[in-house]
Amino acid sequence: MTKFHVLGFPRVGAQRELKWALESYWAGNSTQNDLLNTASALRAANWQRQLDAGVDYLTVGDFALYDHVLNTSYLLGHLPERARHAHNPVDQLFLAARGRTPCGCSASASEMTKWFDTNYHYLVPECSVQDEFRLQPDLLLQEVREAKALGKPLKAVVLGPLSYLYLANSKDGCERLNLLPRLLPLYSELFALLQAEGVDWLQIDEPILVLDLPAPWQQVFEPAYHSLRNNGLNLLLGTYFGALDDNLHLALSLPVQGLHVDLVSAPQQLQPILDRIGPYKVLSAGVIDGRNIWRADLKAAQELVQNAQQQLGERLWLASSCSLLHVPYDVELEAAPQKGVNRWLSFAQQKLQELALLRAALDDEQVLHSHAWQEQQARVQERRTSLLVHKAPVKQRAAQAAAQSWQRTSPFAQRAQAQQQRWQLPLFPTTTIGSFPQTDEVRQLRRRFRAGELDTAAYEQGLEQTLLESLRIQEQIGLDVLVHGEAERTDMVEYFGEQLDGIAVTRNGWVQSYGSRCVKPPVIFGDIERPQAMTVRWSRFAQQHSSKPVKGMLTGPVTILKWAFVRDDQPWSATAYQLAAVLRDEVLELQAAGIGMIQVDEPALREALPLRKAAHPAYLHWAVNSFRYAVSAVDDSTQIHTHMCYADFDDILPAIEGMDADVITLETARSANKLLTTLAQTPYHNGIGPGVYDIHSPNIPAQADMLGILRGTLDVVPAANLWVNPDCGLKTRRWAEVIPALEAMVQAAADLRIEA
Ligand code: GLN
Ligand code: ZN
Repeated sequence: MTKFHVLGFPRVGAQRELKWALESYWAGNSTQNDLLNTASALRAANWQRQLDAGVDYLTVGDFALYDHVLNTSYLLGHLPERARHAHNPVDQLFLAARGRTPCGCSASASEMTKWFDTNYHYLVPECSVQDEFRLQPDLLLQEVREAKALGKPLKAVVLGPLSYLYLANSKDGCERLNLLPRLLPLYSELFALLQAEGVDWLQIDEPILVLDLPAPWQQVFEPAYHSLRNNGLNLLLGTYFGALDDNLHLALSLPVQGLHVDLVSAPQQLQPILDRIGPYKVLSAGVIDGRNIWRADLKAAQELVQNAQQQLGERLWLASSCSLLHVPYDVELEAAPQKGVNRWLSFAQQKLQELALLRAALDDEQVLHSHAWQEQQARVQERRTSLLVHKAPVKQRAAQAAAQSWQRTSPFAQRAQAQQQRWQLPLFPTTTIGSFPQTDEVRQLRRRFRAGELDTAAYEQGLEQTLLESLRIQEQIGLDVLVHGEAERTDMVEYFGEQLDGIAVTRNGWVQSYGSRCVKPPVIFGDIERPQAMTVRWSRFAQQHSSKPVKGMLTGPVTILKWAFVRDDQPWSATAYQLAAVLRDEVLELQAAGIGMIQVDEPALREALPLRKAAHPAYLHWAVNSFRYAVSAVDDSTQIHTHMCYADFDDILPAIEGMDADVITLETARSANKLLTTLAQTPYHNGIGPGVYDIHSPNIPAQADMLGILRGTLDVVPAANLWVNPDCGLKTRRWAEVIPALEAMVQAAADLRIEA
């Protein structure tokens, strides 16, 4: 029999139980025991789903209260020193992640960054030359013991030593690889412990094997893995998010009992692997997409793995391409069919069933005639041909846009003059990124509107009230360029998804973004049209009620694409130009409504960068050009802003320059020096506002710290181009945090003006 398993399961809970439990614990409204009980109930529910579907191994160790990389730091006794004084392991995790605990400890929060090219964030491990490691297996073993009670063979999951170090930051310039000899014995120790617990397999994830690895990292894999002591625990080397390519030989040469590969993003690697896998190793074939939500074409999957099955027999396992962390729980939780697309969707629960069905079909041809199989394939076919999906004029316009290079009418210097004449902004203008706290009142308003207790007029009046209050607050604080606050948006992508044809939003399709924070990516299923203006009403209203400029606020094509579940039946670039086309129309309508500053956020531009360098130029071309297509039709005096977060900007600074926005605001507070170094090497010529404080932490930033950052920035940015702003939007903060923080920021800008 062919076996199947998943690489990991979502952990927030089908109803986001973990989110509520975490936030309640952090707010001091429940005990740590309550939280831990919720967590163990969630694990039990996940295992039950896997048992019901008939997996051959239960996956354990994929759960995390906050983040699995943070868990690995804990497992290895390698939490940042400053987090270790919290009273217990759980609070140590939170102290490291958030910079505070309910028991009142505080420390600076750890840096957070995107997990490969996903929208999930991990807590970056910190390395220094004198670091020691010490195995702390208690949290993992506790989960193993819970799972053991279910009587199924177990497969534990950990992040492998090389990926752990590679994903870490060096705090003191130490060479991370030098820490490897200290780290490896802990893995040997862990193997023995897991084996003693009766665990069958350990999935040891080394996703960095799909990256362009520097030679020293490549070379260290073999000796490292050969030095691990292992008396009989089966190791499954986990790779995902791309092709092994130049690391394929390497991956196959390691002394492990099995290899998992992603055949959704890289089906072409199957044959070369089969050619070289040898007579003993298990191949876990990731054929069900762990990153996207489309019903799988099981016929195609079956054909793909047929040879593998013949060659490997029982050594072939079927699997999700990666952890199911990146998809929601269950399509069954969606109520009414959204724009008719529910039938085409597959979330974690459905993916388990798809794996079971595919396994059944591989083992027994009769299954191809079953109702389940035929229904699955009928749905796949339906999406291919549906008129909901295909609209010729939309495809045409996008194709034409893609064939041209778009530019503003005049170069930056000339536009800057026209804009300065129009706005008369002070040196170092202050602004924010767009959103303001989504307060209980705003949420309440939305809830009542959805429940039908408020009609549209009353709802919009409530939002207007909120907007006006936020304008008054901004004016009082003394900000130079205002925002309307985005109270009408639940989410910067979903808001547009709701209004555009060709995009559906889900009711309950939550995916973890970081910690307790979840996002609900819309589903781009078809060609995109804009039935009517999406933001003009709010932006016009805001501008009419302030004498200061209020930025219009849109989400850029790449970000909508990257933070949505994207159709997989055409290249991303085609979808991006379709999005850019509707944004271009919106931008012009904003301008016509008197909005003179328009921000088009592209926080995901860097994150959407392909993992392999060879694919960068093609991506950057369409990403940058589609942005320019969206914004380039405006007058010189209309100021185009953009915003980006979480970026190692060094490799894309030329592309950012190519976007040619008049002003860019950037996330930097958690890695300020890096950006400054980059800017020193590659000067940036347009307006730029490196974030002066970290909005992810509830701590109020000190004026002096911000002033320090600004002074440093002036070494690499011409004074006339420097903007002053926080790192990112403020929707997750409370007004009580936002107001003093922004007051201090405005004061820091004022101090800087005096010095300048
Ligand atoms: N304008 C958005 C906001 O302020 C930008 C958010 C983001 O960059 N993720 O919320
Ligand atoms: Zn941001």
